[in-house]
Amino acid sequence: MIINIPENSDFSIHNIPFGIFSTKDRSPRAGVAIGEHILDLAAVAELDVFEFNTAVFEKEVLNDFIGLGKAITSKVRTNIQAWLRDEQSVLANKPELFVKQADAQMHLPVYIGDYTDFYSSIEHATNVGKMFRDPENALLPNWKHIPVGYHGRASSIIVSGEPILRPKGQTMPNGADKPIFGPTQRLDFELEMGFITGKNSELGESVSTAEAEDYIFGLVLFNDWSARDIQKWEYVPLGPFLAKNFASSISPWIVTLEALEPFRVKGPKQEPKVLPYLQYEGAKNYDIELEVGIIPQGSEEQTICQSNFKYMYWNMVQQLAHHTVNGCNFNIGDLCGSGTISGKDDNSYGSMLELAWMGTKPLKMKDGSERKFINDGDTVVMRGFGKKNGVRVGFGEVSTKVLPAKP
Ligand code: MN
Repeated sequence: MIINIPENSDFSIHNIPFGIFSTKDRSPRAGVAIGEHILDLAAVAELDVFEFNTAVFEKEVLNDFIGLGKAITSKVRTNIQAWLRDEQSVLANKPELFVKQADAQMHLPVYIGDYTDFYSSIEHATNVGKMFRDPENALLPNWKHIPVGYHGRASSIIVSGEPILRPKGQTMPNGADKPIFGPTQRLDFELEMGFITGKNSELGESVSTAEAEDYIFGLVLFNDWSARDIQKWEYVPLGPFLAKNFASSISPWIVTLEALEPFRVKGPKQEPKVLPYLQYEGAKNYDIELEVGIIPQGSEEQTICQSNFKYMYWNMVQQLAHHTVNGCNFNIGDLCGSGTISGKDDNSYGSMLELAWMGTKPLKMKDGSERKFINDGDTVVMRGFGKKNGVRVGFGEVSTKVLPAKP
């Protein structure tokens, strides 16, 4: 191997995720993560080893690179794997091609034109239905027939490491007769994964479940920040608005669908049977272990949730087929959030709302404090990886610190 890769690294030779980084003397550019390093693709391109216009690696986003199509992007990934494995390859004895991740700043990997968030975990939808509506009829009648979603806000998507401000808004306190305005008292995270589209679809065109994987470039970890008190007051009848669009955080490295191939698993049985345009063949879920930790200000991290992407009731190909069935078009770089990923066990719930059950079961922290929701000064960290037969492919992390609301 050309470069040392620590055992258990998320960024193993099997991964090769794409991102945008900069350092003190390198402007934002494309790279791949390998072990604790980044391979500078703009620098590799200068070796004249690629047969396409490598100006795409000098851009501040990956959209143009992704737009070259999977035939090319996939070959770049497998070429890099081969070169890294071969001590005599073009990458040999060229330390200037590698940058330590610790010395680099990561940026949003793509320009995200549009962002949609789904609601595809049956456990999450059931938990929320029980809390907000009716425990006897937790799932609404449409839920098992439609991958429910809403159009989110792309402008406020940020990359791991950027802090957020506690949002302010309008809420209706329990028992009050008129709303109040102020910082949210119920700031929450949502543990999600997001897929980034890699191919445009035309307005009026529908992408089938069989074609959908062609349109998915790769995945990131996604924290869909939510203000539950604002959400509760505003969401009827059109769904989330200001409770969600103040910030959403993503991990910086896009892990390709090809890299996730070993972790394919079958999803849960869908009963009743879905309409033909939502039916699909094969294993379309992915076994990706997920966890969430909270780092209180000045204290150590505590894991509060362990979940898995494989629990999703609706999968990505169904989400994309549904999203385009009416002819809605997709552009390269669009982002679709999975919806909060909760499992069956109460430590696998993907939000504080569920973990602390609307504040009725506060979580005990190691520093003696309690959490019903997220406090100022807390950093929320999400991680995810697949592991099978000695192959590990991970996402790194999405980490976001919460700062007090603006006065
Ligand atoms: Mn969400």
